[in-house]
Amino acid sequence: MKNLLVLIFSLAILSLSLAPALAEAKEGVAVVVVDVQGDFTTAQKGSLAVPNTDQSYLENVSKATEQLKKAGLPIYAGQDWHPADHISFASNHKDKKPFETIKLDDGRTQVLWPVHCVQGTNAAQILVNPALITKVIQKGMDSKFDSYSGFMDDGGAKTELDKVLKAADIKTLIVYGIATDYCVKATVLDGLKEGYNVYVINDLCRGVADDTSKAALEEMKQKGAKIWPSLDLDNIKNL
Ligand SMILES: [Zn+2]
Repeated sequence: MKNLLVLIFSLAILSLSLAPALAEAKEGVAVVVVDVQGDFTTAQKGSLAVPNTDQSYLENVSKATEQLKKAGLPIYAGQDWHPADHISFASNHKDKKPFETIKLDDGRTQVLWPVHCVQGTNAAQILVNPALITKVIQKGMDSKFDSYSGFMDDGGAKTELDKVLKAADIKTLIVYGIATDYCVKATVLDGLKEGYNVYVINDLCRGVADDTSKAALEEMKQKGAKIWPSLDLDNIKNL
């Protein structure tokens, strides 16, 4: 009996001494899940559904996010969150159709999209278990500016993301989500510009089109992002 108590006591001490080491290994690393929302998925028959975003894709994203959370990483989730009069909706422009491109008064080019991710609608909800999410970072709330990047909109107005990451002393980002060729790309490129090390998990990303997704991955790589084919938890330990 005494030996058993000594053993239990020793195990308790051992687990206590291991815990900080484990936490330390993860310090400075965070996950950014980009726009995994109903309107962008075929699973939810979204208005702007990106190919191959079916239920099994969502399950893979959920599983990976759960594993990363269990590994001790904070999870930040981007959420496209537009007012009904948003500039990116084709229906807000006379005689324009989705996927056409227009020139705005200030010279910017704007791709027009179907109405999507309208604030407060079910289709704008994030499809990752809220219990896993450290903080939701919303974007695209200014009707005059689109915001592919999770860091800032097309007018240069910053979201909370950089501030929140810096406050948590984050230096390295693991990024995946929708869409490779738009919001993932813009978020990754801005993350690099802000000085973060950025890792992209390719098989947890989905793009609007193959050619633009391929080009986007190439550009992210050239600008300094590391592209991982899939999530490998052993790699995370070595970050
Ligand atoms: Zn949008």
